[in-house]
Amino acid sequence: MVWRNSFLDPQQPGGWAVLYSQQHFLADSNGVLFPRDWVKRQDLPIIGEQGIGHFGEDAVYLLQLKPSATLEGCSWQSLRQFMLQGEAETFRMLAYAAQIGTWFAEHRFCGSCGAPTRQLPGERAMRCDSCESQHYPRISPSMIVLVTRGDEILLARSPRFVTGVYSTLAGFVEPGESVEHCVAREVREEVGLEVKNLHYIGSQGWPFPHSLMLGFHAEYAGGDIVMQEDEIEDARWFRVDDLPPLPASRSIARHLIDLYVARRLGLPEPTLAV
Ligand SMILES: [Zn+2]
Repeated sequence: MVWRNSFLDPQQPGGWAVLYSQQHFLADSNGVLFPRDWVKRQDLPIIGEQGIGHFGEDAVYLLQLKPSATLEGCSWQSLRQFMLQGEAETFRMLAYAAQIGTWFAEHRFCGSCGAPTRQLPGERAMRCDSCESQHYPRISPSMIVLVTRGDEILLARSPRFVTGVYSTLAGFVEPGESVEHCVAREVREEVGLEVKNLHYIGSQGWPFPHSLMLGFHAEYAGGDIVMQEDEIEDARWFRVDDLPPLPASRSIARHLIDLYVARRLGLPEPTLAV
């Protein structure tokens, strides 16, 4: 089954619902989709509702609940769990739902004047009638880069990582900055190195909570590793045939690594899950 996001009018009845709160979804042994009309007859604290697209032929709606919500036979499961273990199209659906849910939760009041907003019919926008502003879902561009030096790649550990895992460098694009500039700045800040010959590899939506990761390979151009305090607890060069534990296989971080390793070792190139 394929997931396709689109705008659906929540006034329409029927369809299926995903039940969301704060990066978590209610799920039972059948999964995360519940008959929507049935859900609305349950005694659930619904904060808002969005029509988000189609899973196969079925219309899907996001029901935003208070975190205290419970439903018999169901438990809250994190979006991250679905990324690590779930089926790919289900994760794409939930990733989209979570970003719409985050946007809705953060724009129930106007950021300009503080008045309550309302959902604009026919459009994915929250409208403030008091100051006539409109608030759309936000995407935060960020870059992720694998720095390479022949048969070696630079990998680093953040204190937030799972024990032992090393990954690529990443950071948010700042206002007024190009992505290319961001790559050079972040690499310099995090590990003190200069890079050259950036190659854009691909992108991936990263719903934690609303990033768009733009992935690059970049060649080492100079400098010695100097780690940024608090951000990086270890950074070092690894040979492509002798790598430490790596990030989850569906992540663009892992793709950047696997692709470079495949090219150096003459193996079939992997494809990026999008
Ligand atoms: Zn306002």
